[in-house]
Amino acid sequence: MRVPVIAGNWKMYKSAAEACELVGGLIPLVKNSSGVEIVVAPVFTVLSSVGAAIAGTNIRLSAQDCFWEEEGAFTGEISPKMLLDAGCTHVIIGHSERRQYFGETDASVNKKITAAISSGLTVLFCIGETLAEREAGRMFEVLKTQVTGGLAGIGAQALADVIIAYEPVWAIGTGKTASNDQAQEAHAFIRSLVAQLYSPEIAAGIRILYGGSVKPDNIKGLMEQPDIDGALVGGASLKADSFAAIVNFPA
Ligand code: PEP
Repeated sequence: MRVPVIAGNWKMYKSAAEACELVGGLIPLVKNSSGVEIVVAPVFTVLSSVGAAIAGTNIRLSAQDCFWEEEGAFTGEISPKMLLDAGCTHVIIGHSERRQYFGETDASVNKKITAAISSGLTVLFCIGETLAEREAGRMFEVLKTQVTGGLAGIGAQALADVIIAYEPVWAIGTGKTASNDQAQEAHAFIRSLVAQLYSPEIAAGIRILYGGSVKPDNIKGLMEQPDIDGALVGGASLKADSFAAIVNFPA
């Protein structure tokens, strides 16, 4: 059985005080949530303080990116080992904003995923097509390139530490959610790709999250789709009550 994951990507928001206030509000709202893995991804500078605030709770800590080297003269970068040291269990890799604004490619995403897994982190591996790609009928081709490129050289065992997040770029931060059918179609395709690249058993076990304007009022319909195993949530994760409502969607 695939345990659902609801992950909040806080992007470049929240000071240390604001982040602790947010998570302080979230803890009591989700403390009884069972059967779901809850992850929050604050900015690097507040990882340790949010990590301390959630210690002993059912909320896990993620970073929003990492570099592939362990240490060295790489000014401005942070390694997977350093994220572990800060209390992270997860890391988001390949978010479309990083691909769009910071030149991330399938090759750099692949190096980051490889390094993060070998350090012991669980990876939230983001993929998704732009509106232009979808309208040009290239969605499946783009997803295939991103999945095969991002997972190149990742063995079946290592894949157990990967959660895929399908985030159509046109739905991120726009208020436009993919319809349940559109999301399911993409998720089923991604799962079939994993079956081709690995095996049907591995494909049946991998979690595939949907991301793109997920809100308390659309989570249920998305989660009813057979290949949707949770959500990567941006905007709605910045308020304790809306994120908790998404986490507690079955209630
Ligand atoms: C995201 O940042 O990954 C995201 C899905 O954002 P939003 O929920 O705001 O669309």
